[in-house]
Amino acid sequence: MINCLRIKQHRLMLLAVLVLSICVGVGGFKQKQIQALDAPDKSTSQTQKIASTAWQYGSFPVENFQSYTSPFGYRLSPIDGKKQFHNGLDMAAPLGSYVRSWWTGKVVEVSDNTPCGTAVIVESGSWRHAYCHLDGHVEVAAKGRYMIDRSGGIQIWQGQEVPVGMRIGRVGMTGRTTGPHLHWTLKFNGSYVDPALVLKEMFKQQAMLKPDPLG
Ligand SMILES: [Zn+2]
Repeated sequence: MINCLRIKQHRLMLLAVLVLSICVGVGGFKQKQIQALDAPDKSTSQTQKIASTAWQYGSFPVENFQSYTSPFGYRLSPIDGKKQFHNGLDMAAPLGSYVRSWWTGKVVEVSDNTPCGTAVIVESGSWRHAYCHLDGHVEVAAKGRYMIDRSGGIQIWQGQEVPVGMRIGRVGMTGRTTGPHLHWTLKFNGSYVDPALVLKEMFKQQAMLKPDPLG
């Protein structure tokens, strides 16, 4: 119940700041706003931080996208039928489709031993974005840990910087999954956020940037 309330509060907070972010406008702030996301300043409140974000510069996280197969929130598990909290958004795409980093950031973790399967987690300021069920696995070298997907030509080191839109993996079937899809999660300051809310705002802002085809 407490969890449920907390999630509701977070959703309300995010909705409120997304509305604010529309008021911020879309032109001329690119550099400033990307820096705002990348390098959080502790003196600025969370609300101001999200409100100053230019979502349109994000990258859609998967190529050959087919459909959203499971939303964020409570659902009955497709594996065991029990009620569970689904902490991300499921995005179906054919096996082997490339996954792209939603935002510029630093790879803080690569793993392959959880229900999330082979995964890459990127941190961008106060945000963490995780990509699950990828092809490939984790290997350890003297230099550190990396996720390797040889047939996809992907090698991602824990600790490396990734630019927005960089291919960081491919859709696979690792971990607990019933079909090929990307399970994508977003966290802001440690709390899960519905990725669909951010995607909707991203599409809205990107549509505003497109030149008028008749103009
Ligand atoms: Zn999922």
